Amino acid sequence: MGRKPLKKTSGQSKRKKQRLQTVRGMRDILPVEQPYWQKLKKVVDKVAADYNYNRLEFPIVENVELFERGTGKDTDIVDKEMFKFKTKGGENVCLRPEGTPSVIRAYLQHGMNSQPKPVKLFYRGPMFRYDRPQEGRYREFFQFGFEAIGEKDAILDAQMIQMAMRIFKSLKIKNVSLHLNSIGCEECRPSYNKLLISYLKNRKKSLCMDCKRRLKTNPLRILDCKEEKCMQVVRQAPQTVDHLCSSCKKHFTSLLEYLDEIEVPYLLKPQLVRGLDYYTKTVFEFFAEDDEGRQSALGGGGRYDYLVEVLGGPATPAVGFACGMDRIVNLMKENNLLPQAEQSPKIYLAQLGDLAKKKSLKIFEELERAGIMVAESFGRGNLRTQLRQANKIKAEIVLIIGQREALDGSVILKDMNSGGQEVLPADKIIKEVKKRLKKNAELLKKHEKKTRRKK
Ligand code: AMP
Repeated sequence: MGRKPLKKTSGQSKRKKQRLQTVRGMRDILPVEQPYWQKLKKVVDKVAADYNYNRLEFPIVENVELFERGTGKDTDIVDKEMFKFKTKGGENVCLRPEGTPSVIRAYLQHGMNSQPKPVKLFYRGPMFRYDRPQEGRYREFFQFGFEAIGEKDAILDAQMIQMAMRIFKSLKIKNVSLHLNSIGCEECRPSYNKLLISYLKNRKKSLCMDCKRRLKTNPLRILDCKEEKCMQVVRQAPQTVDHLCSSCKKHFTSLLEYLDEIEVPYLLKPQLVRGLDYYTKTVFEFFAEDDEGRQSALGGGGRYDYLVEVLGGPATPAVGFACGMDRIVNLMKENNLLPQAEQSPKIYLAQLGDLAKKKSLKIFEELERAGIMVAESFGRGNLRTQLRQANKIKAEIVLIIGQREALDGSVILKDMNSGGQEVLPADKIIKEVKKRLKKNAELLKKHEKKTRRKK
């Protein structure tokens, strides 16, 4: 006989609410994805250290004016995509859409311009753009960026490209192409703009609405409009590289020579201008091609010799680039670019009983300190469940501490490959684990070599 269901109390019905979701265009980065992000951050930090770039962290919230003046009022990321709001105190602030203006603001605010030049800085963190979300395009996304402030030599432009390429190479990302152009300076751009405007004015009818407006505000930007009809018009347009002043020409030629020297191939792209106002001379972008030939923009940058001045500092040349971390992580995932070693720990720590639990906490700490990744499930008391777990993560070695081992200061070492086990003094365990892991890695290397030869 069924019992009558109890009536819901008002408290229960209040609690049963719809589950909340992330805001459109924003997403969680789950624990399973973290190894990819960790790997990427590690590689970025390593390259930064190798090339002497120091980490700078700046606020997510900045004054709207910083980007209106720095990036440009008429650029898409400022005009259309910025998350803007007023604080309770009435300040006009925004969520940062990019890093470069903040870096220069910080550089000036903290008197870094008195340091020996170039001042080399790097950053990584979230950026915000209110664009239409789609595959690989989010409203909160992450970038890392490098900036060298105070040097005009094209060798720094080459170094930026070299660092980005080193990061891609370290991550084993293949098929990255470098698109390159020079868009001149204050001296040569006005006469080029005149030429471009007169070419485009005759074809105004074929341009999109935005480009018709840009004809007045920023004609250069028409060159990289993604509308098919504008792209058709632009194909025959005069090219910036053909109208550079002698100093810009020299600068661009030396960059190409440096790139040849470090054997970085490039594609000259006369239509590449980048969407932002501050670029001068060099502009570049990195694209990765997948197996189906689809291109994904990984990052870009260039020289911005006037930005420091625009933001209230002394005339100071500078160059930098930024890359999209989400896109890089997506590529790493698609191509399974995470070395086995970094996917899961090779050691599993199992324990049985309260005293053993305490002892294993110490061993866990020692293993971690020795740089050995170790898995455990301290909450479990059942040895069989723990061994099953160790099998699941494909641990090479299981360390077991039972009541007896906890009392006499020993540890059982179980080799999961051979199945053999032995009892060792707890203070010898780190050394023994290291020795065995090294041996296993050598065996694996030999085995891989053999299979490669057979193929
Ligand atoms: P940008 O600052 O526009 O040159 O962007 C540099 C890189 O950041 C791009 O090449 C992308 O990899 C990445 N990126 C830019 N916007 C987004 C976005 N909305 N979502 C994800 N990644 C982005």
